[in-house]
Amino acid sequence: MTGRMQETTEHLRQWLLQEKHRQRMRQWRKDLEKAFTEHPRQTGESYLQHLWFTVKMSARFLTISLVLTTHGLFPFLFTRATSNQLDRIYLVMKGRVPKPAITSSLSRIFKLRKTPPEPTHRQRIGVIGGGFSGMLTVTHLVRSAQTPLIIEWFDEGKTLGTGIAYSTEDDCHLLNARADRMGAVAGKPEGFYFWLQSEEGKVHAARLWPSGIPSPESYAPRKLYSVYLQSIRDETLQIAQAQGIEVRIHQATATDAMLTKDGQLALTAETKGTQEDFVVDVLVLATGNLPPRQFAFQPGMIRGVTHYIANIWNPQGDCLYPHQVNQLSADAEIVIIGTGLTMVDSVLTLKKNGYKGTITAISRHGWLPAVHTQIAPYPQWEWTRNPAQAPAQIFIMLKQLRREIKKAAASGYDWRSVIDSLRPVTQTLWKRLSITEKRKFITRLFTLWSIHRHRMAPEINTQIKSLQQNGTLRIVPGRIYYVGSDEEGLTVAYRKRGANRLETIRAALVLNCTGPEHDIAASSHRLLKNLRDRKLISVDSLRMGISTTETGSAEGKTPDLIFPVGTLLVGELLECTAVPELREQTHAVANAVTERLREMREMDIESLGAWI
Ligand SMILES: Cc1cc2nc3c(=O)[nH]c(=O)nc-3n(C[C@H](O)[C@H](O)[C@H](O)COP(=O)(O)OP(=O)(O)OC[C@H]3O[C@@H](n4cnc5c(N)ncnc54)[C@H](O)[C@@H]3O)c2cc1C
Repeated sequence: MTGRMQETTEHLRQWLLQEKHRQRMRQWRKDLEKAFTEHPRQTGESYLQHLWFTVKMSARFLTISLVLTTHGLFPFLFTRATSNQLDRIYLVMKGRVPKPAITSSLSRIFKLRKTPPEPTHRQRIGVIGGGFSGMLTVTHLVRSAQTPLIIEWFDEGKTLGTGIAYSTEDDCHLLNARADRMGAVAGKPEGFYFWLQSEEGKVHAARLWPSGIPSPESYAPRKLYSVYLQSIRDETLQIAQAQGIEVRIHQATATDAMLTKDGQLALTAETKGTQEDFVVDVLVLATGNLPPRQFAFQPGMIRGVTHYIANIWNPQGDCLYPHQVNQLSADAEIVIIGTGLTMVDSVLTLKKNGYKGTITAISRHGWLPAVHTQIAPYPQWEWTRNPAQAPAQIFIMLKQLRREIKKAAASGYDWRSVIDSLRPVTQTLWKRLSITEKRKFITRLFTLWSIHRHRMAPEINTQIKSLQQNGTLRIVPGRIYYVGSDEEGLTVAYRKRGANRLETIRAALVLNCTGPEHDIAASSHRLLKNLRDRKLISVDSLRMGISTTETGSAEGKTPDLIFPVGTLLVGELLECTAVPELREQTHAVANAVTERLREMREMDIESLGAWI
């Protein structure tokens, strides 16, 4: 009995020992398995997948170090190769998002996943504005993109890519520059003329400009130019699709943006009263011309909505302008405030829509825009050869410019040739001026400069002259003191330049054609106002737009987050409203944004070690 008990106890001991050994082995196996699979599991891979991944990555890093060393020795070699490789690595790494833990088993080590993980992070750019500037910025962003992106593109208008200037339906609205200067893409000024020569361009020109003979010097209808812009937009969207760049188009008004705790921007946009939020890494502001400044008399007007047109590009309510002006009798009068290019457009629209009465256009000087003629390019002269040597006092500059124009005339050159020769150096000349000189220019010389610089097509001038000659259009230099309204219409009180007494006109319609507002603080633009209130942008010292940093981004709480383009930069650059300047500027802004995104990726790469 005792012997059997001893034997049983011995068996039990042996079994216990074996069981302990088995447990230890199981634990050891578990620990071993954990050591080899726990981390790979976190990236959603098996051991072998992870091993294969790290081998591939180290091969890439090895290649990069060889390429870098070679580049160091021979700087002309592999100038982009390293950054391209880093970008690719970045995308691969970003795709390795931790997955929820999966049940472990050694057998899984040998199981290969069939599909690689999808990259989940793509950088996002917000673009506000679908006019020329917004569209060309998107075009350049798509063409220069180094990685797949998401572009959230917002515009309030109906036809994306055309903006205020080119969405006109009137054939009488012509471009104010020759066809061979209106190319939209940077470095290709003749692009529009070449498009007119293409099969596509010929078809559209035959439809929209039947009487026109396209030539490099011709002034085409803006409606036709809009088709050209739309063809660039469509091509851009196709390229984007082929490159994995997602362009999300929103017909909505961007109203606000605020900084998130990750340093991104949370953007709010509104469509028909519904709000939606979007997060972007970088924002481009291409909001274009702001509506004209409002007069003090405006809010008190009884019939303000229908008889007073505060912004001819966006007439509000049930007003006669532009399509019902033919209902006005032949003895009705219309008063236009302003005598610039906007006035010219509105006069042509009034006549096209059958208005039979007279028009009085009033501005301080009563100056009409100058007219284009065929001119020879002016040879290089002192300022264009070396703008840094030009004087930095505007009245001395004016004197020297007049002298140069006289000299040019003596050699057979038109004054326009000299003015146009300044175009490539205007921004440089402007930046050299002190704030006091800039202010003097804006208050004393801006209008004079604008009418010489922004000219009208000869065909348009012929029509305007003929309306002046037959008494339909009266241009009056003077000052408007008051616009009052009663049940029958409006009364405009004004004083002619040099006269002592006030005169009045009974007007059926008054159109505000004073041109765009530049001061964002005085404008009603909600997004710009909110960005300013949040200190994400700031008004420049001339109150003519947004102030910028060296990189071209808006000065504000966070640099290199918001990039303005177009007329928002008048204070900083002076010349940034017409196509020749905008086509280069949009390219520069797209490059700055692309560079910024690259910097952001590189910062991310530095913190990616933990993922491997
Ligand atoms: C009537 C007119 C004729 C012109 N003709 C010529 C010409 O012949 N040649 C030339 O070189 N230049 C011309 N110009 C100059 C013109 O300013 C530029 O050529 C160019 O069209 C400006 O484009 P933009 O995109 O900067 O602005 P815009 O055309 O004003 O476009 C801005 C867009 O942004 C949208 N937007 C603004 N805020 C928001 C928001 N918060 N949310 C969503 N969308 C928003 C607007 O609705 C608009 O569609 C003309 C300008 C005007 C006004």
